[in-house]
Amino acid sequence: MSLLKRLALAVVCVAFCSAYGEGADGEKRRPLHELNDPAAPAAGKVIAITGAKLVDGTNRPAVEDAVVVVRGDSIAAVGKRGEVEIPKDAQVVDGKSMTLLPGLIDAHFHLDGRNDRPGVFLRRGVTSVRDPGAWIEDYDTVRKSGVPIPRLFLFGPHFDCAPAAHPKDAFIVTNAQQVRDGVNRFVDQGGIAVKVYFRLPLELIQAACETAHTRGVPVTGHLELVKAVDAIGVGIDGIEHVTSFGTSLAEPDEVEKFCAAVREKNGARDPGRYALWGTLDLEHNSRLKSVIDLAVEHKTVLCPTLAVFELRAGDKKATDVGVRGYLNMLKFTGMYFRAGGKVVVGSHSEVPHAEYGWAYPRELELLVEAGLTPAEALRAATLEGAKYFRCDDRLGSVEVGKRADLVLVEGDPLADISAMRKVKRVMLNGVWVDMTIPQRPAVDPQKELLKPGK
Ligand SMILES: [Zn+2]
Repeated sequence: MSLLKRLALAVVCVAFCSAYGEGADGEKRRPLHELNDPAAPAAGKVIAITGAKLVDGTNRPAVEDAVVVVRGDSIAAVGKRGEVEIPKDAQVVDGKSMTLLPGLIDAHFHLDGRNDRPGVFLRRGVTSVRDPGAWIEDYDTVRKSGVPIPRLFLFGPHFDCAPAAHPKDAFIVTNAQQVRDGVNRFVDQGGIAVKVYFRLPLELIQAACETAHTRGVPVTGHLELVKAVDAIGVGIDGIEHVTSFGTSLAEPDEVEKFCAAVREKNGARDPGRYALWGTLDLEHNSRLKSVIDLAVEHKTVLCPTLAVFELRAGDKKATDVGVRGYLNMLKFTGMYFRAGGKVVVGSHSEVPHAEYGWAYPRELELLVEAGLTPAEALRAATLEGAKYFRCDDRLGSVEVGKRADLVLVEGDPLADISAMRKVKRVMLNGVWVDMTIPQRPAVDPQKELLKPGK
């Protein structure tokens, strides 16, 4: 390379890196934005929430009897009672016997044509959602409805090859140029990340990563046929579903059996995953350490979506191997986290062991069952999610200067994570959310309803 070319490259690199800034953990990245703009209160409106236990989303210990002052759409003051002045004109909200947390972040949300769903989730404390695979236009109706909804972090459709498992939600490609064009198109439309789906071969995952990274957005994948370790090797940033790690862990002949069945028929992946995970002995798995070490080294973010795979003895679908497989998914998630792996919380919207609208608190309970402490699960649900969405400059914690996305729950989720089911008040962008949940959810019959494992 000529000196001139090298100089030019250096100039481009400096311009690129400085425009992108540096994340808290030293990664070069640019801040990303939700597509919608939640309503804001008058700039002078002041609300003080007093007396609650504050769990602020960071590593700091909880603060008993806290005071949080919100001015307009932002957090203006945070501290212990007595240390923070309560402005005279403040509307005071008593948070006694409650816990105050940052708004929850759902890293794996599907609309599935249920236009009531974003509002239902908001009332359960979820103030930001990330849909990893839907046309941005699918959200037009709910965005135009005027109903308060969480911040929407959208991708556009996921990238897949024929025969796609979810053709309506897929951007189907055959070559790298189509992948590059698609990534550019959806990022131009406001997409904040790219999701690759399980028929996309490794070389096309690599093309997606290269283009996405040039545009400053991450890539995440739902994998079955490509191993997670290989996808991480070509630059993937996130892994959707704990099951995506199965083929990196299982014995080669089991993996070949699984892949042959999935290549033949998309539907084979559902029973196949349980069978594959049911064969694992994680205590004596020779691949486990190197798989986790690689993910930790690359800061790969795992969104395990345990709740969608939850299978217990006595369930209709339960078999011995299936239940064992699910318990291994749970165990792997705990091992991944304990080894330093990044974990975020994704509800998958509808799951077998939760009523409609309760998938997110179920996922939190399962993360605790997997071995995270409640504090760790709540940090994964807030600040870790915001870092992953690259909006932690504004969201994810209760700190001065951040947007006022807040949740008040009855009781103490640090003692019992199930307290996250008792959401009493939710604030989005400084505005209290009307907590009345409509009785009859509106279903858009034009859209197919959720299929498991999407
Ligand atoms: Zn999904």
